[in-house]
Amino acid sequence: MGVILMVQKVKFNLTIEAELVSAEKISHEEVVFGEIDFIPLVKNWKTYLSKKVLCMPAAHDLHVHFREPGFEHKETIQSGSLAALYGGCTTVLDMPNTNPPTITVKEYLRKKEIGKNEIVNLLVAAGIADNNLSEIKSLASVADCWKVYLDNSFNAVPCTIETLNDACSILENEENNKPIFIHAMQTTEGTEGKQTIDEENAGIELALNLAKEFGNLNFHITHLSNVSALEKIIQKKYHNVTHDTCPRYFMKKTAKEQLQRCNPPIRSLEEQAKLKKSVYDGEIFMLTTDHAPHTLVEKEEGAPGCPGVQEMFPQMINWSFEHEGIDKRKIVKMVHENPKRLMGRKEETEDYVIIAPQEDYQINHEWIKSKCDWSLYQSEIWQGKIIGIISQKC
Ligand SMILES: [Zn+2]
Repeated sequence: MGVILMVQKVKFNLTIEAELVSAEKISHEEVVFGEIDFIPLVKNWKTYLSKKVLCMPAAHDLHVHFREPGFEHKETIQSGSLAALYGGCTTVLDMPNTNPPTITVKEYLRKKEIGKNEIVNLLVAAGIADNNLSEIKSLASVADCWKVYLDNSFNAVPCTIETLNDACSILENEENNKPIFIHAMQTTEGTEGKQTIDEENAGIELALNLAKEFGNLNFHITHLSNVSALEKIIQKKYHNVTHDTCPRYFMKKTAKEQLQRCNPPIRSLEEQAKLKKSVYDGEIFMLTTDHAPHTLVEKEEGAPGCPGVQEMFPQMINWSFEHEGIDKRKIVKMVHENPKRLMGRKEETEDYVIIAPQEDYQINHEWIKSKCDWSLYQSEIWQGKIIGIISQKC
């Protein structure tokens, strides 16, 4: 089990020589930050700051399961936040399938309270479920956004399409129009754990129908795993539908197959390559990780879900250094610009990630901060080490 490390902030005046990346441009310049709060993530950080570094806005991961309350042996809000921070991610969105689930105002505020003093910004999704229609109106005034599981095999926060329709009718008349994140899947009996592309696309079809019916609500289809799903969404051109995919669906993995089990499942190598090309070409609106840690014992027993919040941003940076690698501006668009836009966040000051571009490191136990203590990319060597975060959160 990982040990919780305390992070320390250092206050000082920072000027660096940097390759500065935004969603629009890459410039090479002397960047004067003035007085900042810096969170060092490596021991010899001072030596790195005197050399030329890579500087990028911090990532958002709008799909994580930090497992608290109820499953603290897998992850806590504190351990998950630390993993996020070490992965250059300073805003996360936690999902409602905890125990008790986040489907009442009481549970919602309780989770927000736990996250209040964390080192990252903890956004929380309120669940829409068969048993909380009476709470939807009051939840609407506090919730950062909504999450619904359109998967009839998903037992944690069950929701039928009829319930979702009713909830949308309520939300239509609310002023706070927050995005509704949809786990799109229509699992038929016997395919649990190996849901087909058709079953996933049937869920997406349902989501798209809802988006057409409720034109003034925003729907976000999360963790799509195949390109035909993406094509379906793009083809409709609905103004109120956005989407994301996760690196596990398009990047090569070193972990054995049992550890790769998740919902939707990781598709064939051919599908993965097609999806990777879509990411490369800039067709993906946003990346998330669906960070869903389980212990190794639970994975051996078949638990679906994999960690990922720490890996996403470093992995994309590593990809940018490969021959004909991904454009860093596209990374910023998918992990910073678009997530921020989706959540209506308009902070004037940003968090920044400082990276030593030439530095290699290994994905090993020392690096991994999630309490589950394993990674899909275990033992890989990646380039571009995160040395610290310029943080706005006090
Ligand atoms: Zn999830």
